[in-house]
Amino acid sequence: MEKEPRHWVEILSDRIVAEKEEPYIITSGITTSGSLHVGTLCEFLFSSAIEKYLKEKGYRTEFHFIADIYDAFDAVPINLGKYEKELTPHLGKPLCNVPDPAGCHESYGEHFFSEAIDVMKILEVSPKLERANQLYTEGRFDSFARFFLRNHEEAKRIVSESSLKQELPAEWNALMPVCQNCGRIATTIVTEFDENSYSYKDVKDVKYTKGCGYEGENKLSDHKYKLTWRLHWPSWMEVFRTSVEGAGVDHHTRGGSWDTVLAVYKQLFEKEPPIGYKFGFILLRGKKYSKSKGIGLGVTDILELIPPELIKYSLFRPGIEENKDIDPTGYNLMKLFDDYMYASKVDMSSKELSKADRKKAIAFSLSTGKMQWKASFADLLMYKQLYGSWGKVGELLKDPEGVQYLKPYVEKWIAEEFAPEEYSFSFQPTKQADMKPIKEFAARLKDGMNALDIHNLVFEFSKEKGIRPEEFFIQLYRALLNKDKGPRMGKLIEAVGVSKVRETIEGM
Ligand SMILES: [Zn+2]
Ligand SMILES: [Zn+2]
Repeated sequence: MEKEPRHWVEILSDRIVAEKEEPYIITSGITTSGSLHVGTLCEFLFSSAIEKYLKEKGYRTEFHFIADIYDAFDAVPINLGKYEKELTPHLGKPLCNVPDPAGCHESYGEHFFSEAIDVMKILEVSPKLERANQLYTEGRFDSFARFFLRNHEEAKRIVSESSLKQELPAEWNALMPVCQNCGRIATTIVTEFDENSYSYKDVKDVKYTKGCGYEGENKLSDHKYKLTWRLHWPSWMEVFRTSVEGAGVDHHTRGGSWDTVLAVYKQLFEKEPPIGYKFGFILLRGKKYSKSKGIGLGVTDILELIPPELIKYSLFRPGIEENKDIDPTGYNLMKLFDDYMYASKVDMSSKELSKADRKKAIAFSLSTGKMQWKASFADLLMYKQLYGSWGKVGELLKDPEGVQYLKPYVEKWIAEEFAPEEYSFSFQPTKQADMKPIKEFAARLKDGMNALDIHNLVFEFSKEKGIRPEEFFIQLYRALLNKDKGPRMGKLIEAVGVSKVRETIEGM
């Protein structure tokens, strides 16, 4: 299973160092067309992990994150349905020219970029932020636009071939002009051009909107255009002199836009392209809960349920091209907490270090600088159910700061009813029909016994009495919790207190 001994970040960094020159420039970006979805996290988390790794190795790096606020607004997102009437007239305009429905930012595009920035802060990702509309306004794409216009036929052929489209429409052009009359960018076509200026008509029907029919003329220096996506992407990588950039598998399919990047670099720019890597999708297992519980597990929900370092760990641990599961439900989250705790303790210098452990340790180091808690998640949950007060939980687990840190996540998790059935209980001593074996067992509980001692005692005792251990466990749970199951019995009795359990049972 674990054939490759190295973590993906090591493999990628080695390649960057071998093929590129310092400073290593990492770029990535998103179109801010609505609220972040979980998949968008990949766009900045992987780049940020690569940067962190290279930096820690002592290399100079830069990480630019580009918001494509100049892209066309092509749909009113479902969650903005109440603004549909106000937003619909703006369909087809660049996102930076669509009003912010919430009214708090300069534009619609800025509003959602700002949401993304907030999420990056929580995840401790701090790239240099760039805005495509600004880059165009500053003329940073002009030389590329001029170049593509000068080499129009060549550019058209390369886009067509690399995208596996036999023939592009006759009106295809590298430029998408912004209509001076109505402001749309999605519906214009270039009719005539030379290196420095162009005429256009706003006549296209793009299903979600239509051009206004205006005919106009612009100079490149007016900066009222954007490059078509397949040329915009390689150009931005030239603007920033990108060493490495990742993208989702959809861009990396045959005929996908990464193929155009490679073709543009090789045949038009006549340069070595940046290193590209692809990442898999994020699957949200918790999604199945969204309908029945009325919670849509969006990025905000995930951030409230899972600490940031754990989200990063779960994305950095598997192979980068694999699809990843984020699953905040039941034992899956508890397992993730356990695995994370384990990873934090792996000794990288050990001679017996396994491949899997090595990858865990690297994923851990990419996820955080410091472990924020010591207590196990299962203990924390159990003590919380038993004692109610977080202060008491912190004190008993000897980890007040860690407990404080995890408190909001656990509370949210319990409130969303994600805790497994076994962990939903309270200490409820309940008299059983046959108390004899239970009392005999309790009499053998000695002060100072730990969870494992108690666990072993249950097995020894049932064996001695000829009771099936599973059955005896049920009897004990019924006597202590008035339920058929609960957390590990040894842990539970230790948490309640050996003497308290003994005395309680003796008194029944
Ligand atoms: Zn706003
Ligand atoms: Zn127009």
